[in-house]
Amino acid sequence: MFNLAIIGGGPAGYTAAAEASEAGMKVVLFERDTLGGTCLNVGCIPTKTLLYSAKQYFNATNASKYGVSADNVSFDYQKMQQRKQKVVRKLVAGVRQKLRNGNCTVVAGEASVLSRTDEKVVIECNGEQYEAENLMICTGSQNFVPPIPGVKDNPYVWNSTDALDSKELPADILIVGGGVIGMEFATLYHELGVNVTDVEAMPSVLPNLDKDCVGVLLEKYRKLGVRILTSTKVKSLEENRVIIQTEEGEETLTADKVLICVGRRANLAGLEALQGLEIERGAVKVNDFMQTNLRNVYAAGDVTGKIMLAHVASRQAEVAVGRMLKQIPLQRIAYNAIPSVVYTNPEIASVGLTEADLTGAECVLPIEYEAKVLPMAFSGRFVAENEGENGLCKVIIDKKNQTLLGVHMVGNPCSEFVAAASFAVRMGYTVSEFKQVVFPHPTVSEILRETVI
Ligand SMILES: Cc1cc2nc3c(=O)[nH]c(=O)nc-3n(C[C@H](O)[C@H](O)[C@H](O)COP(=O)(O)OP(=O)(O)OC[C@H]3O[C@@H](n4cnc5c(N)ncnc54)[C@H](O)[C@@H]3O)c2cc1C
Repeated sequence: MFNLAIIGGGPAGYTAAAEASEAGMKVVLFERDTLGGTCLNVGCIPTKTLLYSAKQYFNATNASKYGVSADNVSFDYQKMQQRKQKVVRKLVAGVRQKLRNGNCTVVAGEASVLSRTDEKVVIECNGEQYEAENLMICTGSQNFVPPIPGVKDNPYVWNSTDALDSKELPADILIVGGGVIGMEFATLYHELGVNVTDVEAMPSVLPNLDKDCVGVLLEKYRKLGVRILTSTKVKSLEENRVIIQTEEGEETLTADKVLICVGRRANLAGLEALQGLEIERGAVKVNDFMQTNLRNVYAAGDVTGKIMLAHVASRQAEVAVGRMLKQIPLQRIAYNAIPSVVYTNPEIASVGLTEADLTGAECVLPIEYEAKVLPMAFSGRFVAENEGENGLCKVIIDKKNQTLLGVHMVGNPCSEFVAAASFAVRMGYTVSEFKQVVFPHPTVSEILRETVI
């Protein structure tokens, strides 16, 4: 009998397996596809690897503004793809080794729950049965296929996995969805010379992010010729003809490929035998300690439908294992201090509350706040390395007790230092406490301190 069975080997599953094994638990992990899950195989890592190649090409073609001439710059998309696969393989091997080092039993195959009592869970995989005291559901999520006529079985339609797999670049692409994944693909394709149109049903792309930061990105896209159509719905597709509904009326667009990026849905298949398992809005319902309503069943990652990010999945897994081991003090996740990054060019990185959270129609917490804003150009390093680029840093401060509630930035490479802002928000730093932190000079990170004080 195992102490813990984990279904799914993505960031939630492999983190839980490593943590639990290290603590001395006997662990079995089931993975039907490739260890590393969406993140390593068809998500975070392959997108960022291709984006990096695209950025190298884009920067080379725009190097003259730094006094560098590079004539006849070209790229080989197949080589970019090969490198992406090499990176993925290396990282997957790292996960495999980590689980091996922890003596975790890894079973390759699709697992399903056969039965459950408060004492044990029985799981079936490849015709074998496995018993465990506890179960952790880490089955992740999959691309959502919207019920738009003409989308299903259309050879012109891609999801994010198809796009990442393709060895060829389309001449033009229509991206449906202006969320994080849609915007990152818009950057990738634009930088490689593909004509990009993005269609978003909401009045703005990246609707949950700081409006001023998004504004800087959109201004850049406008100058570059990336077409963004907001308040626009895709009504139907006929092969590669896309019928859209704008505020002015109907229009037909054509593109070599139509990339659908309209969100993801939790993977719940194989869990049917968990009688009474509470599902909320299509995801497994959990409490602050990642416990489901069934005594010995936990869940972590995208399947919980909380915040679909890899670092959230890993942290949830740590919290779940801590609860299973009854660690004192029990930990919860600080959802108020989860950093998020959009790997566009320029990048957007943020943590904590936005102005929209604190005021106006979308207000979730009516706190009196102050928003301090500085252009990124206040950082010497940013000016040195971002010729002709704009950026900003906005810090949201509680007016009464002067604590940092949120930080929102646009400008490269803000993804690399948003963790400092997360730390401050997580620890409830005040302005005067933050002022005591010394930042290295010259780095773009100094903009944080400059904005706060
Ligand atoms: C294109 C794209 C880009 C992304 N970029 C980022 C990013 O930059 N940063 C970020 O934080 N997040 C990003 N994400 C999101 C991130 O990938 C997910 O939040 C993360 O992978 C969730 O981890 P998880 O362990 O919950 O699930 P997953 O990584 O989806 O892993 C679940 C695993 O469970 C397996 N599984 C499911 N059911 C069974 C079963 N019955 N039996 C056996 N195995 C099963 C699946 O095969 C899968 O490997 C991106 C996602 C996409 C699609």
